[in-house]
Amino acid sequence: MTYDPSNIFAKIIAGEIPSHKVFEDDTALVMMDIFPQSRGHTLVIPKAQSRNLLDADPAALSAVMPLVQRVAKALMQTTKAGGIRLAQFNEAPAGQTVFHLHFHLIPAFEGVAMGAHASGRADDAELAQLAKKIASNL
Ligand code: 5GP
Repeated sequence: MTYDPSNIFAKIIAGEIPSHKVFEDDTALVMMDIFPQSRGHTLVIPKAQSRNLLDADPAALSAVMPLVQRVAKALMQTTKAGGIRLAQFNEAPAGQTVFHLHFHLIPAFEGVAMGAHASGRADDAELAQLAKKIASNL
């Protein structure tokens, strides 16, 4: 399987498609998932081109994990979640739908079931507000 540079996350990284951005530097972009499985569902996306974990450069993987941790902590603080799920899918049979490496951070709330993967679209105003709050807690 080869990397297809026309995937939607590549277009978001290139600035061709808008997103509710939480953070960006030379190596990664963090944004709200527009079909969240819970309030605050955030994606951490390394900018280096790879489909997923299987073809990623190990150096890119080790560079991004501290950011994943930082965002997880900011999400806990912002959403007051009781826990957080880190998820990452590799190829379609495993549930991957966008073929550019990304890490899901999904806040978990006691007694609240998580929504289905990539289903209902969130309200843009709410996502914009959340992105701002998470960014301020990074
Ligand atoms: P995957 O199934 O590949 O692990 O996850 C892709 C994720 O990207 C899904 O959770 C889906 O909701 C999200 N997603 C798909 N298209 C867009 C988009 O255009 N913008 C944002 N922010 N998220 C998207």
